[in-house]
Amino acid sequence: MNIFHLLDGAATRYPERPAIFRGDVLVASHARLRADALALAAAFSDHGVQGDRIVVAAKNCPEYIAILFGAWAAGMMVTPLNAKLHPREMAMIIEDAEPVLILAGADLAGPLAAALPGGSPVVEIGGEAYAAMLAHTPLAGPAVTQPDDLAWLFYTSGTTGRSKGAMLSHRNLLAMTIAHLADFEALSPRDSIIHAAPMSHGSGLYILPYVARAAAQIIPASDGFDPDEFLDLCDFHLSCGAFLAPTMVQRLRLAGERRGGSSPGLRSIVYGGGPMYLSEIKSSLAFFGPVFRQLYGQGESPMTITGLCAADYEGASDETLASVGWPRSGMQVRVVDKRGDELPVGEVGEIVCRGDIVMSGYWRDTPATRKALRGGWLYTGDMGSFDRSGCLTLRDRSKEVIISGGTNIYPREVEEVLMAHPAVEEVAVCGEPDEEWGESIVAFIALKPGAEATTAELDSLCISRIARFKRPKRYVFLPTLPKSSYGKILKRELKLLAEAKAISQES
Ligand code: AMP
Repeated sequence: MNIFHLLDGAATRYPERPAIFRGDVLVASHARLRADALALAAAFSDHGVQGDRIVVAAKNCPEYIAILFGAWAAGMMVTPLNAKLHPREMAMIIEDAEPVLILAGADLAGPLAAALPGGSPVVEIGGEAYAAMLAHTPLAGPAVTQPDDLAWLFYTSGTTGRSKGAMLSHRNLLAMTIAHLADFEALSPRDSIIHAAPMSHGSGLYILPYVARAAAQIIPASDGFDPDEFLDLCDFHLSCGAFLAPTMVQRLRLAGERRGGSSPGLRSIVYGGGPMYLSEIKSSLAFFGPVFRQLYGQGESPMTITGLCAADYEGASDETLASVGWPRSGMQVRVVDKRGDELPVGEVGEIVCRGDIVMSGYWRDTPATRKALRGGWLYTGDMGSFDRSGCLTLRDRSKEVIISGGTNIYPREVEEVLMAHPAVEEVAVCGEPDEEWGESIVAFIALKPGAEATTAELDSLCISRIARFKRPKRYVFLPTLPKSSYGKILKRELKLLAEAKAISQES
């Protein structure tokens, strides 16, 4: 089984249906996409053999899709890199992955070649060498691969340490695709996806269910996320879906409110990859209507551990909206204690999962693999608890739990309360060393433009909703919170800021 067969099926049944748009311009039909991928596969095979790696270092671009399928047709592994990484960070991943070829966007090819040892095989996407690859005589069909052969080396965002390569097989990607179609959206050739989030990660994985149903892929002309452009694209293409990080959902809503309405062409938004605060999902549901699904997943179990499906939002309680929902199709999920024993309903422990979507380990990193995969279960590093209906609520990553006076405090709980203040735009709660308590709580706050909130107001909001010992001891106001190139708030950096005390402090 080769994941390339999804494209084979689409191109055979719907050869002339649009496969790729750049903005509102048609770039390729499914037949064209298949032919390009098989030509690239032939070219890739000149450089290596099955099992070799092809790195893609590019912003979102139409060529991305043919490159992924080209690598799979050649029986090789794709290694997409986040285009926002520093060339030196990319070079570290490339050293780890040892690719036979590096395909880089026009803006990245030069800096990347300079950061790599001389003679590294960098090909500029859209350049002359790339055009020559597309002119290759295409392979007759994809290489024969086994379900457990590796298809995608997925480098994690490294928010809690060095970026590691999660090894994802053809089986993993197919199981993820089927779970998406089963749980989230029954797609057809009339639907499309807007790739506004990075195709190197979440949005790129969603190429697969859309190809499986011969639906169209839209690459915004801006290469990324511009809320107004996104809504314009929904007006033009109709029946659009997207994967968006929670911060993007908020930006989209604010843009929609400024424009005085959403777009009737917006069909679905899958959000996840980071916490969606209750106040935001409520505002977004009120504004966009029932278009949402939530995923909880991680690179190690791509896009799929638990989730909220469309029907779960109907009459949903606040608890459900603030949760990460129920196990996805084909996934078994448990909450366990430090020994790995399953905990009863209501108790907080580490979330573990297993199923066909879970990676087979980290690339060339046996110690990290042994730590993450134990007894057939993936240890996610996330803390959570189940309710009686089997709905999972995420607390925090185990490393982010604050221990103050010997008691565990989950930052998310305090963040939810502070987000309820109308002036607060962003919040992150961390622990800082405290001689008396071990750790004390500090809240970093970014206020909405022109809005005001005092420490006293925030404190009394906390007192009205959570136990006193969970209140932040200190509030730090910043214009905006530092984020990774994936839009995740960097608590590591905030902790350093707090420790350095190099910031102005109110109160
Ligand atoms: P990554 O592998 O970089 O995508 O990061 C995965 C991590 O993001 C998970 O282990 C969670 O800590 C967090 N995460 C993913 N989805 C959600 C979600 N729906 N709500 C809250 N946190 C999430």
